[in-house]
Amino acid sequence: MDNSLQKAPLREARRALVFAFENGDGKNKQLLGGKGANLCEMTQIGLNVPPGFVISTEACLSYLENPDQQLPKGLMDAVRVQMTALNEKTGKKFGDAENPLLISVRSGSAISMPGMMDTILNLGLNIDTLKGLIRQTGEERFAFDAYRRFIQLFGKVALGIPDEAFDVEFDEVKERAGVTQDEGLSARDLREVSDRFLEVVERKTGRPFPVDPYQQLETAIKAVFNSWMGKRAVDYRREFNITTDMANGTAVNIVAMVFGNLGDDSATGVSFTRYPDTGENRLFGEYLTNAQGEDVVAGIRTPKPIDALHEEMPEMYRQLHELRSRLESHYREVQDFEFTIEKGRLYCLQTRNGKMNATALVRTSVEMVREGLLSQDEALLRVQPESLEQLLFPRLAPGPEHAPVARGLAASPGAAVGHAVFDADRAEELGDTGRRVILLREETKPEDIHGFFASEGILTARGGKTSHAAVVARGMGKPCVAGAEGISVDVQRRQALVGGRIIREEDLITIDGSTGDVYLGEVPMTEPDFTSELETLLEWADESSTLSVMANADTPEDAERALRYGANGIGLCRTERMFNGVERLPLVIDMILAEDQGQRESALASLLPIQRRDFKEILKVMAPRPVTIRLLDPPIHEFLPSEQQLTEELQRLRRLRDVVLGVDVLFDTVNLMYSEDAVQPNVLKLADPRLVDEAMTKKQTMLRKVRTLTEVNPMLGHRGVRLGITFPEIYAMQIRAVLEAAAECIKEGMEVHPEVMVPQVSTAEELKFVYNSVQDIWQSVEAQCGVEIPLKFGTMIEVVRACMRAGSLAEEVEFFSFGTNDLTQATFSFSREDAENKFLPLYNEHQILQDNPFEVLDTKGVGKLMALAIGWGRETRPGLKVGICGEHGGHPESIRFCNSIGLSYVSCSGPRVPIARLAAAHAALLDKGEVVGPSTL
Ligand code: ADP
Ligand code: MG
Ligand code: MG
Repeated sequence: MDNSLQKAPLREARRALVFAFENGDGKNKQLLGGKGANLCEMTQIGLNVPPGFVISTEACLSYLENPDQQLPKGLMDAVRVQMTALNEKTGKKFGDAENPLLISVRSGSAISMPGMMDTILNLGLNIDTLKGLIRQTGEERFAFDAYRRFIQLFGKVALGIPDEAFDVEFDEVKERAGVTQDEGLSARDLREVSDRFLEVVERKTGRPFPVDPYQQLETAIKAVFNSWMGKRAVDYRREFNITTDMANGTAVNIVAMVFGNLGDDSATGVSFTRYPDTGENRLFGEYLTNAQGEDVVAGIRTPKPIDALHEEMPEMYRQLHELRSRLESHYREVQDFEFTIEKGRLYCLQTRNGKMNATALVRTSVEMVREGLLSQDEALLRVQPESLEQLLFPRLAPGPEHAPVARGLAASPGAAVGHAVFDADRAEELGDTGRRVILLREETKPEDIHGFFASEGILTARGGKTSHAAVVARGMGKPCVAGAEGISVDVQRRQALVGGRIIREEDLITIDGSTGDVYLGEVPMTEPDFTSELETLLEWADESSTLSVMANADTPEDAERALRYGANGIGLCRTERMFNGVERLPLVIDMILAEDQGQRESALASLLPIQRRDFKEILKVMAPRPVTIRLLDPPIHEFLPSEQQLTEELQRLRRLRDVVLGVDVLFDTVNLMYSEDAVQPNVLKLADPRLVDEAMTKKQTMLRKVRTLTEVNPMLGHRGVRLGITFPEIYAMQIRAVLEAAAECIKEGMEVHPEVMVPQVSTAEELKFVYNSVQDIWQSVEAQCGVEIPLKFGTMIEVVRACMRAGSLAEEVEFFSFGTNDLTQATFSFSREDAENKFLPLYNEHQILQDNPFEVLDTKGVGKLMALAIGWGRETRPGLKVGICGEHGGHPESIRFCNSIGLSYVSCSGPRVPIARLAAAHAALLDKGEVVGPSTL
């Protein structure tokens, strides 16, 4: 997260700072930036790239380190040499009044940060070269259009003049000319715009616009370098954790201009070699005829879909397809590229690996293996496990009462509901208070980026699938609907109009980035489907991984879902969840309130069939996969109401008792005094005071029990195996329920593998105690049912002492399951709630801890204990099965660690199973065969 400048390593004395596209190393993105490296690479494989050169990131760092803001020595000389070469390659001349060469000055760092840094087009124009450009092209209007764009871009990027200063003038000229679209302006109008822009610059900077092309160039290079440390770029790197190791400084790319705005045989566009939202193997893209590159991205005009080019310029369309396949077969990755057509000639101006959402990544991974472009392992490693979460998000399920009010482009799939806000600052304000918001804008700009972070989804009224909003939302995996033209946004009044209805700030709206639909209000969602490509990819993942992935599931429904997600069994079934059902809780309470063993056993006897039924269902769903059932864990007072609640209820009952007694007196009085009367008042008898008394006695008993069960520190108190030892009947009932359920399944012909594990164990003696009762019940159930039941006996490892005594525990059990939630609490002596609410955020901020150890496994402390425990456990019992069932079991980084210390399985919540399956494959592929011992941690 370090965004400060890192001192570049001592550079060798005469390392070149500038590289022609023909010479730069296309693999060295650190040095040349992604854009520069790819421009070199494309040039060298023979694609049609306009000539140019790259100034390296080292030059950038050296400039930014220089206290006098001087470019490194010799840089401008080297640039001049390259410019002379460019003159030769293009047959034009930089700064020449007859046949001027114009260039773009473009930023580009090792990691693509779309729209975060700056680019200047048409550099080299001044009043003399402008005339040359007119002579050269014969297009006066075009030349002035290029000129006014250059003045504004240069003014903004290099001189720090805000767009608004130019926009006001531009709008005035448009108004005077009576046009609404830029295209409506004549050459003369544009000349006026240029003149006004030059005045703006002079007014704002106190100096005339620089006319010397080399001075322009030098200023532009510095401006691009400076944009690396601009607020936008710094924020972006912080948000996406882009460290200096990943990207340090920006390169500058100098590229000879080609013009997509030279008439109807010219165009500019952005394309993906495959669909970035669905992954479909078909050229995707958008273009504008007679336009310059930034128009497509900026959403000034809504572009045309690439297929329209087929009609408009068939030969260009064919060449574009050729370009597409050359790019893909060279990079073996979906490419996102920029192109420009100048008078029937196609140029490629940029390519990079396409940012895709998870759906597209999964589909292209599978298809590119089938097409022979990728190996199975490469395909697996291409998809980040966490990104599958996007696929596991619910989809919209609109009912008949939900009709879309507008439809835009499906720009980034997934659905989102939130409160509408109309600017990025408000989005951030509301988002910070924990509200779900949808950012609704006419179009978005790079400076809106903080609003994206705060929003659930993005909705724009203008712009295409490659507009800023769409690109950024896709990168973030947030739903986006772009170009919903039926909506008109009024930022001033904080409202939008759609089909005669008003959306006010904070009104709930729903967007569906998979269809482009926009709804007022909140539309319900449903569970996601698995595509066949995802199934395939996950099957490949299972083939590659050594860790088995199980699920945490407490009910038959959970188990069914886990199975659909591909779980290999259940690693944690929490029996206490089953106690909370409405018809069960009273039985549980009876069990707790029991005054003696007899009473308790009779309450347990009524619970037994219920638990047996649950276990049977779960075993059945999972057959023949293992089901690991944890015996009762939490302190039993959790099943009772709190002391405060009971005291309040008792108070209320006392008051009620007075009222009921009062009504009783009234009733008697009325009966007595009006007995002769014809119109005797009718008094309702409310309740029998005895009933109220009875309720009060019950509550009082419960309150007494709650008080006796109160613990100073319940998490360290009477819970887990300690309960099992003080109230052995409870565990006995659960063990019997498991065994009887298994016996019933076996009799019905199923193969089942129940496993029982004991929570909170700290010594082997506890396990022996519980195992004695297991053995007795096991024998009795087998005898009674006449079948043999396979049962495994294991322990949770979630107490520090259990780790230290793992060698001795392993004598009693066949498997360990690390409960890393409790083990983390125990290792740090942090209680999770207190830590997360009170001090952890500050710990993270001050970098005292890098992560929240309850989310990301603390490998150095907790992990080391685990590795030690595994080592000692397997010394006693080679091949001991070891798993993890804490929340960490679904976290890719932690899974990688678990793999490295030799765990047999991880268990996580059902919906995270696919993520864990892929993470397990990554772990196996990335650390092939190396098992880390505790000494190396
Ligand atoms: P970004 O990183 O924001 O995409 P770029 O440096 O790629 O910025 O440039 C912005 C736009 O200008 C793109 O559409 C690009 O294709 C176009 N562009 C850049 N250089 C040239 C050039 N030499 N000729 C024509 N268009 C260019
Ligand atoms: Mg670009
Ligand atoms: Mg626990």
